[in-house]
Amino acid sequence: MALRFFNTYSRELEEFEPRDPKRRKIDIYTCGPTVYSRAHIGNFRAYIFEDLLQRHLELRGYKVHRVMNITDVDDKTIRGAREAGVPLSEFTAGFKKTFFEDIETLRIKRADEFPAATDQRYIDKMIEMISTLISRGLAYQAEDKSVYFRINKFPDYGKLAHFDLTQLQSTGRVKHDEYDKEHIGDFALWKAWDEEDGEVGWESPWERGRPGWHIECSAMATALLGDQIDIHCGGVDNIFPHHEAEIAQSEGCTGKKFVRYWLHCAHLLVDGQKMSKSLGNFYTLGDVLEKGYTGREIRYALMRVHYRAPLNFTWDGMKEARESLGRIDDWLERLREAAGDKMVGTTRRGARSAQGADATSQFEGALDDDLNISAALGFLFETIRETNRAMDRNEFDAASANAWLNWWERADSVLMISDSENEIPPEVLKLAKAREQARLAKDWRKSDELRDELSTRGWEARDTKDGQKITRRAGA
Ligand SMILES: [Zn+2]
Repeated sequence: MALRFFNTYSRELEEFEPRDPKRRKIDIYTCGPTVYSRAHIGNFRAYIFEDLLQRHLELRGYKVHRVMNITDVDDKTIRGAREAGVPLSEFTAGFKKTFFEDIETLRIKRADEFPAATDQRYIDKMIEMISTLISRGLAYQAEDKSVYFRINKFPDYGKLAHFDLTQLQSTGRVKHDEYDKEHIGDFALWKAWDEEDGEVGWESPWERGRPGWHIECSAMATALLGDQIDIHCGGVDNIFPHHEAEIAQSEGCTGKKFVRYWLHCAHLLVDGQKMSKSLGNFYTLGDVLEKGYTGREIRYALMRVHYRAPLNFTWDGMKEARESLGRIDDWLERLREAAGDKMVGTTRRGARSAQGADATSQFEGALDDDLNISAALGFLFETIRETNRAMDRNEFDAASANAWLNWWERADSVLMISDSENEIPPEVLKLAKAREQARLAKDWRKSDELRDELSTRGWEARDTKDGQKITRRAGA
């Protein structure tokens, strides 16, 4: 089946066709963190969804070039720096560092580029875009010296959010008095400096000031990926006004369709409620780690529900995630044992390995269908039940076990939920195989040498009546 995604712009499931099908190269832009505090688990739900998307596209043979911006200047970062009494760059540096540690913990692949809004290169690009918009009549400088986008001059404004212009309410991101603007929905492209900005500000053709949040993304996206992007992602919160504004600014400058597919991740609720500090249900990644959960457990818990459905985070859900991963770990352990050279029970070579191809198409087919993770995981656990039953009945041979292990390796390149602590690295497996061969040839010296070699790598080879067993050396 072809890949298809739900495009927020059309509100339809659309077959995915990259901009340039021959190159099989895809550009993805994902809105990144605003570094004024540590990101919360709702943010990470969106980043994990984007990671799943990238990894699945790569599994399907696409080369993905992904950009994620870092918003390191806006109202919140400026306020935070002022309250902390430190320069803006110093204030944001700590949260940037934590962000990179957090995505590593959650096994999220790093984007190819992480442009920061305060980089002079992008400030220049923002100023250039704003100048173009003014020259085309799409922007104007108001009495308060700030520059605003004139939404009435952009007929498509509201198409992404499916909004009627006449129903527009204030966007909340604009802090200046409304009478300065021509329309309540006009949003700031350039905010004139005021006292609260302190040291923060850049010279511009209008007034010393700073960019609005929306223009930051339009400038960084087009500077790094060109005028047109295959996929743009974010949380549903970003649809309006942020992404709507990105379209207006980018298309207003280039005259070309900015994004082919808009993908948005639904909300994360905690105990059925919107996360908020006042309700005491606001969790950063650190809060969940402190309760003793690991990065992979949190990744699994945040990934297992389809990205367009709201996800309810609960501590019971975290326990379930741990149990589910335990079942996968046990299953893999059994498969690895069965895949050793010995046979488990009667040999029906190939009888079940034929399932490998079918399994691949079922699992990957589910992900092709708008990243239907629930169906993909449903298939995984059904498989675990069936193969465990077959192993219980001794109707499973080494070839079948190997076929499933190979299948898992491919599936886990997208899921990234293996217990890497207990996973046997390929080079260790190779040494273990060589040692088994040596023992079969009764070459005891070689066998001992290989045992020592395994030991120095932190693995122990034990010889049991069922053959050789490889485990992590105690204390290694
Ligand atoms: Zn953005």
